[in-house]
Amino acid sequence: MDQSQRRNLLITGANKGLGYGTVEKLLSESTPFHITLTSRNTTLGEKAVSTLREKYPNSTSTLTYHQLDVDSDKSVAELVSWVQKTQGKLDVLVNNAGINSRDASEEAQRGVVKTNYSSTVKITEKFLPLIADDGKILQISSNLGQLQFQGETLRKILENENLTEEELNKTAENFIELTKDYNPLPYLPEPSYCASKALLNKYVRSILPKKLKSTQQSYAVNPGWVRTDMGGDNALLSIEEGVDTIVYLINSPFKKNTELDSKLVFERKILEW
Ligand code: NAP
Repeated sequence: MDQSQRRNLLITGANKGLGYGTVEKLLSESTPFHITLTSRNTTLGEKAVSTLREKYPNSTSTLTYHQLDVDSDKSVAELVSWVQKTQGKLDVLVNNAGINSRDASEEAQRGVVKTNYSSTVKITEKFLPLIADDGKILQISSNLGQLQFQGETLRKILENENLTEEELNKTAENFIELTKDYNPLPYLPEPSYCASKALLNKYVRSILPKKLKSTQQSYAVNPGWVRTDMGGDNALLSIEEGVDTIVYLINSPFKKNTELDSKLVFERKILEW
């Protein structure tokens, strides 16, 4: 098959977990993609690619590797420029890389909001000029970003339908102060994970749609509680189950999905913000 017949897809943080599982599912199916698997650690990423190539030698999709540390401006710039030179455009961008931290230090908590929100938004914006006219952007988020899991102060800010991009970024900068009234969940003692995904959801809901062409679409996706290094062994879903909605949205027609576009999606349906 001619490479130009394949849609170009790029996924972040895909050396393991849901990112790896998404690539594996796509390789096992018949829709032809040219997949760029990225990871911050080159050795781990290249190993993932060679394992997948060996496992799916006859896949209709092709697989390539590029390094990406989402928190490094240099790494992001190198990747964007490489995609521009080698592929020209991206049909699907999947921002999957994410972290959680039980370390209560301000540095660690800021790190979570940086990776899950600020870096994810930065990558999205850097890739925007390369997104195909009918392209899709998936932000892997979480139900823990729902407004019901935030403290009242952050919730009120994010409920504002007129919140500007500048105000949202200021909220991210000041999240330590703004989450003082967060009510810790037993399995999530720190507020940063919930806040980071709530900020990301707000970006998908209110900011990104204004930057996209009317034919482009984007989603926030909740994979559910999944048995990965992050989700732990007691999680309810296997990785294959966790990637179901992600792969469903990737494979859905490249035509605006007026029901799910700019929404938080779980089990292929809208989940309340
Ligand atoms: P995981 O197994 O811990 O995998 C996370 C991936 O993100 C790893 O490949 C990790 O790379 C990568 N990553 C972290 N920081 C990065 C950085 N700075 N640059 C590039 N890559 C980076 O977690 P997962 O469960 O698959 O999580 C994937 C996404 O799903 C995350 O956004 C997470 O918040 C979301 N999610 C997960 C669950 C769940 O129950 N598992 C539930 C809701 C949402 P390294 O191997 O180098 O660390």
